Amino acid sequence: MDPEIRVITIDQLGILRAVEEDPASGRVTVTITPTYTGCPAMDVIRADIRRALTAAGHPDAEVRTVYSPPWSTDWISEGGRAKLAAAGIAPPAPVRTTGVVSLTLAVRCPQCGSPETEQVSRFGSTACKALWRCRSCSEPFDHLKAL
Ligand SMILES: [Zn+2]
Repeated sequence: MDPEIRVITIDQLGILRAVEEDPASGRVTVTITPTYTGCPAMDVIRADIRRALTAAGHPDAEVRTVYSPPWSTDWISEGGRAKLAAAGIAPPAPVRTTGVVSLTLAVRCPQCGSPETEQVSRFGSTACKALWRCRSCSEPFDHLKAL
């Protein structure tokens, strides 16, 4: 599970890139990509992976961090987006670039689905989330920023 957003797995977030087992030695290599640069959760994620691998009988497993291709919110799976919305966190819209213009779609309220929403603060409970409010039902909610 992601340590900051406990409802979604690192696989659904697109942080987990590969899990490989060397057929000869049986040694497991897990490849991950950080989300936001300097995200403090990455150390926790690495420790969580090591603990899970040790529990699964792979104490000598390697956890590799790669930076290319870079992570973006487009790596979040459909299942992951649904889980975010169910937890009251508006998922990021896909970042679509048409030539030089980057389009941002309306942020829908995760409570009532209304597109009548407004940003209250660029920073929410964590640096990767912004605080928004719904103008229809007045509920505040976190929005995972598109990147
Ligand atoms: Zn609403």
